[in-house]
Amino acid sequence: LAAVGYTGRFAPSPTGPLHLGSLYTALASYLDARYHHGRWLLRIDDLDTPRNQPGASARIMESLLAFGLQWDGEIAYQSQHLAAYQQALNSLQYQDKLYACTCSRKDLESYPGVYPGFCRTKQLPINTHYALRIKSSPQSLGFVDYLQGQIRDKLDSDHGDFIIRRKDGIIAYQLAVVIDDELQQVTHVVRGYDLLDSTVKQIFLQHQLGYATPQYRHVPVLVDRHGQKLSKQTLAQPVEHKSPGRVLWRLLGLLNQAPPANLQGADVDQILAWAVAHWQPLRLKTISSVLPN
Ligand code: GLU
Ligand code: ZN
Repeated sequence: LAAVGYTGRFAPSPTGPLHLGSLYTALASYLDARYHHGRWLLRIDDLDTPRNQPGASARIMESLLAFGLQWDGEIAYQSQHLAAYQQALNSLQYQDKLYACTCSRKDLESYPGVYPGFCRTKQLPINTHYALRIKSSPQSLGFVDYLQGQIRDKLDSDHGDFIIRRKDGIIAYQLAVVIDDELQQVTHVVRGYDLLDSTVKQIFLQHQLGYATPQYRHVPVLVDRHGQKLSKQTLAQPVEHKSPGRVLWRLLGLLNQAPPANLQGADVDQILAWAVAHWQPLRLKTISSVLPN
């Protein structure tokens, strides 16, 4: 494969330091990119400002480097893409594909499924005080995930008119990620299984905006004893940098790559070199979530 044929990325939200679960996803995405002689970009998903933690971006970068996960090129920040997001919103508005919504959480309390479309025909002004929704359609939309196989959803009944800009003015993750992946010319998205359900929404937005669709590989997520994804919410501990080689070796085991025992004491560069050369993503196919012991 030519070097230009693959651009991957890791896109952490700076809501806290990397924990084992986020490092696991970063490693999978890094190995897949390097195995394909591709580029591996770092993007900081820092739009959700109330959840951002001061210093988290720097700590994340420090951790990635401690584990030898060197990204290519400049780091991108979502907070620097606001003009591009606005341009996309303008284009969707111009095509009559979005509408403002004033429904409160309380209004929607008794509608647990997809948004029932109350505001779709109200013609509310598109101003900065209202949430914006994309108009879904009755179409069914699918893609083939390299690991999870064929995924197909009905847009209206499975996703409905979902929010693309929140009431607080913050661009919703679903729209931002689509624009960023386009801006960065990402061709391959390797990320956690927990985002599988978002992918059809994102492909729908790509179609609305005339963007290409990357290939998707949703890898299992690390879970705790209760089956909960490791996250800041489940109080996952920050990864320690004391013996990064041992942590990498362990993560390769959790990625079902069967690292040889004699690699266990090797340094980070040796372990990564082995892992890139022996990367077998399809070995991840058989597992949906992983409980680190
Ligand atoms: N920033 C998102 C997260 O931390 C990931 C975005 C993505 O990989 O599409 O969950
Ligand atoms: Zn509404």
